[in-house]
Amino acid sequence: MNPIPDDTESRYDHIFRNALIYDGSDSGPFPGEVAVRGDRIAAVAIQGTIPVGAAREEHDLKGKALAPGFIDSHTHDDRIVLDSPGMLPKISQGVTTVIAGNCGISLAPVTFEGNPPPPMNLLGGREAYAFPTFADYARAIDEATPGVNVAALIGHSALRLATMSNIEARASEAEISAMLDRVDEAMDNGAAGFSTGLFYPTNAGADAGEVARIATRFAERGGVYATHMRDETAHVLDSIAESVSTAEQARIQLIISHHKCAGVENWGRTRETLPVIKAAADRLPIAIDAYPYDAGSTNLRLDLVTDVFRIMITWSEPHPEVAGRDLSDIAAEWGVDLHEAARRLDPAGAIYFLMNEEDVQRVLSFPLTMIGSDGLPHDKHPHPRLWGTFPRVIGHYARELGLFPIEIAIHKMTGLTASVFNLEDRGRIAEGFFADLVVFDPSTIVDRATYEDPQLFSAGIEKVFVNGRMSWVAGATTVHRNGRLVGRRSA
Ligand SMILES: [Zn+2]
Repeated sequence: MNPIPDDTESRYDHIFRNALIYDGSDSGPFPGEVAVRGDRIAAVAIQGTIPVGAAREEHDLKGKALAPGFIDSHTHDDRIVLDSPGMLPKISQGVTTVIAGNCGISLAPVTFEGNPPPPMNLLGGREAYAFPTFADYARAIDEATPGVNVAALIGHSALRLATMSNIEARASEAEISAMLDRVDEAMDNGAAGFSTGLFYPTNAGADAGEVARIATRFAERGGVYATHMRDETAHVLDSIAESVSTAEQARIQLIISHHKCAGVENWGRTRETLPVIKAAADRLPIAIDAYPYDAGSTNLRLDLVTDVFRIMITWSEPHPEVAGRDLSDIAAEWGVDLHEAARRLDPAGAIYFLMNEEDVQRVLSFPLTMIGSDGLPHDKHPHPRLWGTFPRVIGHYARELGLFPIEIAIHKMTGLTASVFNLEDRGRIAEGFFADLVVFDPSTIVDRATYEDPQLFSAGIEKVFVNGRMSWVAGATTVHRNGRLVGRRSA
């Protein structure tokens, strides 16, 4: 071993010793040490090979796990990264990068004169939409310096609302052309790709042809395509066929968002959907994202109100006091039926217990599935996925239930995700990669957030590093912010 030269240039900033390294691939962990210089991983070595005193800071992990920082593949964090840039709900789970702009909903490039329509109101009111161009949004991220990195998709609903006169119709040629100008501007300034929310009224008017036109332009600029499909219930197979055909036409990486078979009559049908997706994956690049819970959450919608499954209110503009209570209890107290109660609560958000646990497990285990929280950070009483998703996959599904080994859980939230979204030099522990890192205890890591008490730290996450800097330690309520906009930047 050569002595360390005495110039500060060659010293490391951090060395992690006695680490159990999960490198983000799907292979098992190995003991070793990792050195960080600046914002990059400078060395990955077997135990005892990096000399003592070679770093400003040494971290003896005593056999604890070191993994790439987790990448939340499905978020609605567009605004929270600016408003509460510490990103405590995410960084406390070991998340170091979030993919924003999902389900057709993005903060840029659109502004509103009145209130944004659902589902755009999931991100906030008119004041939140202050970014007529993606460059404006990118600048705001730079100025905020969030606690985590941000990769941003552009939502089709945002593009449509910015350019169309009748949002329920298919876009005209002139409107498509106006959308394509915005696509170019966004991709020039670092957007990561495209999302649709064809399930939602602001996007449902777009037929497959319109979507393919927009997706093709994103593909030409190196973007990906994520879709909250038109239907996740009875017609889920038709929606998968539509998504695959759009992606094939556009020659683009497809991501099927929060894959589920919703509604009691569709429970078990992931036995049909997953083989179809797997077969299509022979022809084009496809991934899925999923969260580890059997309840979903979005706006409170009259067409989703039912007495077949439980519905919990997450926020309500006219009745903020009922957040966290079940719709059925509220209706009983008011002496009205469920639909009348929902009408009185509107605008509001809800958690719908509409999935089957066996489907959830089948989707999580599927090799093309990435982990994404789909958390809604502005809800008063949010779905626990916002604070618990990543430790829950590792602690509950991998360690406790044995659904897959811990290295597979890690791969689904690091290496796989980075490759699907083209996040350059992220998602792996390897020399030259960005030093987004998480230290955790594999024997104790687990989520603590519940439906009743949803805003709790998880257990077992010890330290989180973003771009080479220590950003969060267990229990802290402050975050040292070192995140940046990541994704494709054109030359
Ligand atoms: Zn969605």
